Amino acid sequence: MQHLGTDLARAASVLRSGGLVGMPTETVYGLAANALDEVAVARIFDAKNRPHFDPLIVHLADWNDVDRVAADVPAEARALWSALGPSALTYVLPKRPEVPDLVTSGLDTVAVRIPQLELARQLIASAGVPVAAPSANPFGFVSPTTAQHVADQLADRVDYILDGGPCAVGVESTIVSWTNGRAGVLRLGGIPVEVLSDVLGYVPEVQPSSSQPTAPGMLESHYAPGKPMQLLPHGVDWSTVNRMEGVRCVPWTPGAHGLDALTTSGSCQQGAQRLFAALRDFAASSDRELWMELAPEEGLGRAINDRLRRAAHRAEG
Ligand code: AMP
Ligand code: MG
Repeated sequence: MQHLGTDLARAASVLRSGGLVGMPTETVYGLAANALDEVAVARIFDAKNRPHFDPLIVHLADWNDVDRVAADVPAEARALWSALGPSALTYVLPKRPEVPDLVTSGLDTVAVRIPQLELARQLIASAGVPVAAPSANPFGFVSPTTAQHVADQLADRVDYILDGGPCAVGVESTIVSWTNGRAGVLRLGGIPVEVLSDVLGYVPEVQPSSSQPTAPGMLESHYAPGKPMQLLPHGVDWSTVNRMEGVRCVPWTPGAHGLDALTTSGSCQQGAQRLFAALRDFAASSDRELWMELAPEEGLGRAINDRLRRAAHRAEG
């Protein structure tokens, strides 16, 4: 039977019965299961080859459900929710005991997101359970931004893929957490830091990625296309770049160099939307290397550059 389609009721019933669903969201496609069903959650880790130390984000249909999974929600988290509503922002909050330790990798916090994509919220509401979902790709590889990407990579490891079209944001959520009463950003993502600062009244500290992360979204090497990548500074003059056979060159914007650029107009929103598909296209091509121009280091451009740096990062030794 075809297992990719637009049947919301079927997707919800798969979730209720302990199965795995490829779930569309505005950021990337998730690999979703009932967050309160430990056996179903274990299947997510197996399907992705994801190490158990990497906790999952719990997706809810509405902020009113937050108290089902989290306790002592900070006032600043509520303020961010009031300002932003459903969005590409994930809140790390003190967890309730009902959330299995497998979901949170034994941490005493739980990461919670209410996605902006209405179809995702409808799916979660009709399943009637909180939904744990990491990105629907094998661990360490590029995240999926279409239903077909999920089918290409996870195929029969997922029971149903709900097609919600291409992802509008295209990079994962921004993750915010609180320590000693102050907000910090654990992962750059779809909500720019500047937007958080406007609401909070101060600039939250952004944690650097590392090879020994406290949150695995901070892993230095991730989103990798499996072949060498070089990053060129934003604004580089491509006419001075010495191009070579087998090396794919991707400028940020079109120009006299005649190369296919990532964006048509330089918009970071468009760059983010197209980023993972571009990395995937390179991975599947016969090109041996990718030279890519960085985005401007502001707004959504910071999340794009974060993903590019990690995609280009090669473990030493
Ligand atoms: P993914 O959905 O694959 O992008 O991965 C979700 C990411 O959320 C993880 O890699 C972690 O970085 C982060 N995360 C999830 N739960 C927590 C938590 N309780 N504390 C800190 N970070 C978390
Ligand atoms: Mg991921």
